[in-house]
Amino acid sequence: MRYSIFGKTGYKVSSLGFGAMNLPGVPYEQADKALNYALDQGINYIDTAAAYRNSEEIIGRSIAGRRDEYFLATKTNKRDYESARQEIENSLNKLRTDTIDLLQIHYVNYEHEFEKVMAEDGAYRAALEARGAGKIRFIGITGHRPDLLTRWIESGSFDQVLFHLNLAQPFALEQLIPALTRKQMGKVAMKPLSGGFIQPVEKAIRYPYSQDVHVTISGMVSVDEVRENLRAQEQEVGTEEREELESLAMELGGHNCRRCNYCSCPIGIPIPDVMISSRIRNHFGLLPKGDAFYQKHKDKLFSCADYEPCKEQPLCEQKCPYHLPMQTVIQQSVSYFSN
Ligand code: SF4
Ligand code: SF4
Repeated sequence: MRYSIFGKTGYKVSSLGFGAMNLPGVPYEQADKALNYALDQGINYIDTAAAYRNSEEIIGRSIAGRRDEYFLATKTNKRDYESARQEIENSLNKLRTDTIDLLQIHYVNYEHEFEKVMAEDGAYRAALEARGAGKIRFIGITGHRPDLLTRWIESGSFDQVLFHLNLAQPFALEQLIPALTRKQMGKVAMKPLSGGFIQPVEKAIRYPYSQDVHVTISGMVSVDEVRENLRAQEQEVGTEEREELESLAMELGGHNCRRCNYCSCPIGIPIPDVMISSRIRNHFGLLPKGDAFYQKHKDKLFSCADYEPCKEQPLCEQKCPYHLPMQTVIQQSVSYFSN
């Protein structure tokens, strides 16, 4: 694990960050051990969100007593001033702290949402006020559209961006990461395992570790998982390995789906998961997560071809900003199962 100065914050952050999204799903004692073990091992970046069930409470209860040992990042998905203001106050209470290091405006994927956030009565004003009052130190933004994020950071309003970067979604490398580097902003990669579809963990973690980011947030829920993630960052990545990972990313990212979720399927097919896992399946075969996913959604996948409103023109494809052939990819998954 390495440490680097986090943009203009001056804070020296660990390259592995503790993603606390899934902590609410495990017994408190287990979450408590995992968080404390992570701090003991030198992980000093903790990422949560108001929207992650009681994740903030767990962090507050478990490690508020060690507050000077970690950089604390949370998020608000509110868009208007008053709701965001209240949510920041709630986060401070739940996290049992006077200061949140980084407040990120969570999951901004559309122009109209960004405009709302930045309007006079928008969430950004609440963040600015909280910063003025010393309740937060820095302001960031998260989203699934690297092209839009690249444009939005031009305003100079943000200190950091949290984006997808993994072997199946290398798209932030094109414009976003170089722009963040130029602007000396905090660069945080999320979802190294792409929701569990990418295996083994070591390879998945080493890809963002080989790239120009300060922190990779990995969702962890146990001491064993913290150990496994740390092991993956023990050695630096050499040139040969970097090239091998980059060429794998080029292949696995060939679906081109950014997980922006513009395409909502009326019969509930989780289209981004199909897009992303299809390439992984073609390359590695069905890994456990991919297999479980297909078994769970098989019936819906099989119904896609007969869904009347999509016969002339697939509804999902009309909404995709990248004009991707989702129906075809779904049909390919279906034939995989039919053979
Ligand atoms: S084409 Fe298939 S996946 Fe797309 S909206 Fe229609 S039913 Fe859903
Ligand atoms: S298929 Fe297109 S619209 Fe759907 S999540 Fe992927 S990029 Fe977005």
